[in-house]
Amino acid sequence: MKIIRSSKCSLKFATSSKLSELKRVLTEYGGVCNIFIDYFWKNGTPAKSELLKDTVDLPKDTWLSARLRKVAAREAIDMITSIKERWKNKPEKISMPVHKGKRTYVSCTIADLQEKVSTEEFDAWLHLASMGENTILDLPIKFHKHYNKLVAQGKRLNSYIITEKYVQFSFEIETGPKKSGTNAIGIDTGIKALASLNNSAQFGLDTKSLIERIKRCKHGSNGQKQARRAFKQRIDEVVQEIVSYFEHIDLVVVEQLKNINYKSKLKRRLSKNMRRSIGTWAYRYWLKRLEQACEMNRVHFKSVAPYYTSQTCPSCGHVDRGNRVRQIFRCLRCGHTGNADVIAAGNILARFLTGFYGARYKPYEVKFV
Ligand SMILES: [Zn+2]
Repeated sequence: MKIIRSSKCSLKFATSSKLSELKRVLTEYGGVCNIFIDYFWKNGTPAKSELLKDTVDLPKDTWLSARLRKVAAREAIDMITSIKERWKNKPEKISMPVHKGKRTYVSCTIADLQEKVSTEEFDAWLHLASMGENTILDLPIKFHKHYNKLVAQGKRLNSYIITEKYVQFSFEIETGPKKSGTNAIGIDTGIKALASLNNSAQFGLDTKSLIERIKRCKHGSNGQKQARRAFKQRIDEVVQEIVSYFEHIDLVVVEQLKNINYKSKLKRRLSKNMRRSIGTWAYRYWLKRLEQACEMNRVHFKSVAPYYTSQTCPSCGHVDRGNRVRQIFRCLRCGHTGNADVIAAGNILARFLTGFYGARYKPYEVKFV
């Protein structure tokens, strides 16, 4: 399986004159992009392969080269398509997108990474040309650990996202086919332990204190940003701890908390769940990292709907809020007891294996690893 990973390199080594030149290009690019958006919004979006010269030449008062105008036209198409796709079920929410002139996405027709550099301060030049008005920019790049790791794992692609602050490089990594074994685990996400597995293993037992630290800080403050970073870093570590299991695992099942967000009308109904959960942004980040780790290790990654996973008795099937009292699960009908998060993880796994999609898979074994 081929997967794409990216890494950002800072532009802090560039001189201020280069950075202001870059800013000028990005601003012009954004403006041209908006001209295309305006035109395609009124006249319909063409297929990217049908971007003929007449269309590319639409913006009149610009110094941007035909190449970069074509990039802008493509991005305009993407922006319109994605906003329509995002709100396809709520057409009243669709409004014309606006490019802010903060970033551009270029390929080898504009950018070239030149790695032989005769200086010790940085490792490469990102050479930008054909942008218009004979503008040429050589941006100094310094590689770092994450970048070098991706170089070792895969092939760097000739596409770059460029902003005023960084360049993002992309890599294609061939992981090999997904595993064909039959060992599965379910993972419940919680505040007491970030991850509880159905085999009773728990990871990230310091999650609660990390979240409380974030909540104590003033919203938007530097302290809160720092606390969030610390929590993200901890999430990355927990993912790595779980990866050490992956040698024996073929399938991971998690609970997808799709409908929870702070503005949701469901808020009050879900408040108990919310208190227990780690917050939307952190939950998304955690699932994303876990999914990426699965991809990297050729492990299948699946998710199920979240209803009642922590209230259902795995022994008799009785569903009752009263089955769970904080960390303790005790079935009000049959008396089955256990750690509530571990039982939830088992229910998550069972929901997948016995559900619509699970039936299409060969039987998975639920083993203790
Ligand atoms: Zn029961």
